[in-house]
Amino acid sequence: MDCDLLIQNGTIVDGTGGPSFAGDLAVRDGRILQVFQTQNSDRADLQAARTVDAAGLVVAPGFIDIHSHVDFNLPVADHPRLLSRLLEQGCTTVVAGNCGFSPAPLAADSPHLDLIHHYLDFISDEPLPLDWITEDAFLSHLERQGVAVNLAQLAGHATVRLSLWGEDYAYPGDDEFVRLERHLEEALDQGAWGVSLGLGYAPGLFAGTGELTCLADLAQRRQVPLTVHLKAYSAVSPAYSPFTGNHNLRALREMLDIAIKTGVRLQISHMLFVGARTWDGCDQGLAMIEQANERGADVAFDSFPYLCGNSTIYIAFPDWFLKKAERNFHNPLAKARLKLEWGFMSRLLGFDLDDIQLMEAHRPRYRQYEGLFFDQIAREMGCSLREAYFRLARDTAGRAACLLHKYNGEPGRDGPLRKVLTHPLCTFETDALLFSRGLANPASRGTFPRAIQLFNKELGLLGLEETVAKMTGRSAERIGLTDRGIIAESNWADLTLFDHVEIRDNTTTQDTGARPSGIRQVFINGEQVVVDGVARPGEKRGRVLRRNG
Ligand SMILES: [Zn+2]
Repeated sequence: MDCDLLIQNGTIVDGTGGPSFAGDLAVRDGRILQVFQTQNSDRADLQAARTVDAAGLVVAPGFIDIHSHVDFNLPVADHPRLLSRLLEQGCTTVVAGNCGFSPAPLAADSPHLDLIHHYLDFISDEPLPLDWITEDAFLSHLERQGVAVNLAQLAGHATVRLSLWGEDYAYPGDDEFVRLERHLEEALDQGAWGVSLGLGYAPGLFAGTGELTCLADLAQRRQVPLTVHLKAYSAVSPAYSPFTGNHNLRALREMLDIAIKTGVRLQISHMLFVGARTWDGCDQGLAMIEQANERGADVAFDSFPYLCGNSTIYIAFPDWFLKKAERNFHNPLAKARLKLEWGFMSRLLGFDLDDIQLMEAHRPRYRQYEGLFFDQIAREMGCSLREAYFRLARDTAGRAACLLHKYNGEPGRDGPLRKVLTHPLCTFETDALLFSRGLANPASRGTFPRAIQLFNKELGLLGLEETVAKMTGRSAERIGLTDRGIIAESNWADLTLFDHVEIRDNTTTQDTGARPSGIRQVFINGEQVVVDGVARPGEKRGRVLRRNG
């Protein structure tokens, strides 16, 4: 037998952004053996164990989610159940460990493992075993257990910082800081693809320009990407004092200056303009990035095609409150101050608590409110909006997850969303937290079909080849994956076959869990994992990808 699989009669969109062509392709031992630039309905010269007729379908590289958090799902053995949401939208590879938080690496003998557990709890669906310390041990755990998608993991700055110094947020001094760098470098040696920063919350929030420049230097020295959740995405944030200009643009400026100075490959995570007060600054923000690149920086960004995104319920709480959350929740003075600030902030932000939808309630007695916006929850609870939000945060100890709206616009006013996502520097991502209960983040279900549906088919803002490149080849290039993301001979056979007429995201604000239409067959490393749009249960055909190995 010459090959294991022959895919015939499809339209090949190869992920480079170059023109599509009618062609066939042969797969052997998990890799693309040959790409035929002409169609031949009987390749008598080639013996194939299996032939798939792709007539009427686009054959694309498997989609890459460049900003994922599934590293908090993957260590659990039955994760394919949840991960089917990604496979069924054509995704075959994830870049995880984002926003500064990754399950590894940890500092050996860390006195703060309880704290790590506490933080990880916020974003994992089930308690993680946490029987690893190093990056190598974490990746080995996943290799032994098997994974449903290919994984390129980043090393999280916040995870290492917490495990070394706990909640002591000040810069620890140069000698101490060397220890943090050593842990990150070791993780890179053991297979991590880059370093991630989460600067919107503790402890990353407290990292000053000096610390961030050192981290950028490290990534630049090692020729790996530095991904960053900025200190602010909204007009006002805990990162800076109020009345000091647009915080989101200030946060962007800080990282762009570091990128210009160090030359690091900087990937700005989930490029968002949150709240109506930021939307007019979208053009300026994008221009700042273009100007940084003109000055020699290497900056790009990613974003998702929805006007909402997931976070924890603590997102709306100021830093002073969270520092002593347990006490403050029962202190009437703190509560009064908080509610006053919320009223004040809503005007500065162009965003209020009724723009928040409860996603995962964490407590059985609040499950009935999942899917509702907080103004609806307040009506059902018979209290004020702010009281309802306060109670849910208090009673779940911040564990409830929410969908925040007014991200990059609102229905009927989505200019920022269009500008950000169709920008040549933007790649597509989900940023989705996956929970087995509650409301799904629609991005976990429909990101890639929606990007094609909206920007290519409905709005005509991007060609099909360009749209596909922004979810395959471009993403691979940003992370440094050289043998995936493009259909080429000897690359791994991650393939998504879809119907360009049928492809559609079926999620709505109320039903965020609907399976998309038009994704037909998905292959990972040459093995079929989605048949006629439905994931095969329990499959673990992905690979743990290690940089330099
Ligand atoms: Zn983030």
